[in-house]
Amino acid sequence: MKVIDHITRAAGKTLFSIEILPPLKGENIKTLYDNLDPLMEFKPPFIDVTYHREEYVYKKKENGLLEKRSTRKRPGTVGICAALQAHYQVDTVPHIICGGFSKEETENALIDLHFLGIDNVLALQGDAIKSEGRFAPEPDGHRYASELLGQIVAMNQGKFLDEDLENASPTNFCIGVAGYPEKHFAAPNLKADLKYLKLKVDMGAEYIVTQMFFDNRKYFEFVRQCREAGITVPIIPGIKPITTKSQASVLPTVFHIDIPEELSDEVERCKDNAAVKQVGVEWAVRQSRELIKFGVPTLHFYSMGKSDPIYRIAKELF
Ligand code: FAD
Repeated sequence: MKVIDHITRAAGKTLFSIEILPPLKGENIKTLYDNLDPLMEFKPPFIDVTYHREEYVYKKKENGLLEKRSTRKRPGTVGICAALQAHYQVDTVPHIICGGFSKEETENALIDLHFLGIDNVLALQGDAIKSEGRFAPEPDGHRYASELLGQIVAMNQGKFLDEDLENASPTNFCIGVAGYPEKHFAAPNLKADLKYLKLKVDMGAEYIVTQMFFDNRKYFEFVRQCREAGITVPIIPGIKPITTKSQASVLPTVFHIDIPEELSDEVERCKDNAAVKQVGVEWAVRQSRELIKFGVPTLHFYSMGKSDPIYRIAKELF
């Protein structure tokens, strides 16, 4: 079932959903199930699975020289989505990115998903290769999420890359996109960012999932500005509980978001990470209660491979 249908069917009740990472290469899928099993108690209607592009590692050769190798540390997004659908009878949302994909490879990946009965995707630009710092599209790939979205929308209309293909069977994807209450780091300002977010929605995105934020006022203001700009689709807030002391500086660095003073002070005062986790859980519960009151369609939790804090939060709320 499509994400948008889950939201419509809930008729105003806030749903519980999660984003997970594929396990590191070489890990067993059982580890993932063990992590997810407790969360299934809260009946998430859908689970997002991130996509991780290749990165470069340097291996020392016998002659002492370094060899540059391309590797994907967390492969398996499509396989995991299919496995989760079969294992838990839950809908899955694979993240599909522009980076590292030609249009042909994108088309083939989407055909795989379609055949597997996966009819949701989150269309994204994708992160830059870690060592490169700046996003660069493939020579025959997409630069922006809106271009990728255009390809998916075309496939939903039965239009594939080969124009000679006649009577092609259309795909049926519900497409979500990303939004940034604190602005995407590359956008000159929020207004410019919203222009492109609106473009994605006008082209066919059915809902938006936000970057994590720790101050609800940022989300409320973002929703207000989206509505003012004519963006009417559901805007799903992304929530991440802080779990370690180092995250107070790592999360702003990686995700270009602010940690409110009150929260960073509380984290600072913690003696160990167990105490930080408790602070993070309590903060996320308070944030979630207010968001539920606001009437958000679903609370979308970034698990980052750890289900325990999400379980504690969900136990308080659902
Ligand atoms: P876009 O919508 O393409 O926007 C990127 C930037 O370009 C923005 O600054 C925008 O304002 C600007 N822009 C957009 N269109 C145009 C245009 N036509 N002309 C000029 N400027 C334009 N990354 C991963 O690698 N894998 C994941 O699984 C993943 N999951 C994510 C899930 C969520 C909910 C979020 C919020 C992010 C996720 N990311 C993931 C990170 C994301 O890929 C990066 O933040 C990326 O830099 C931007 O992606 P986007 O889809 O928002 O890009």
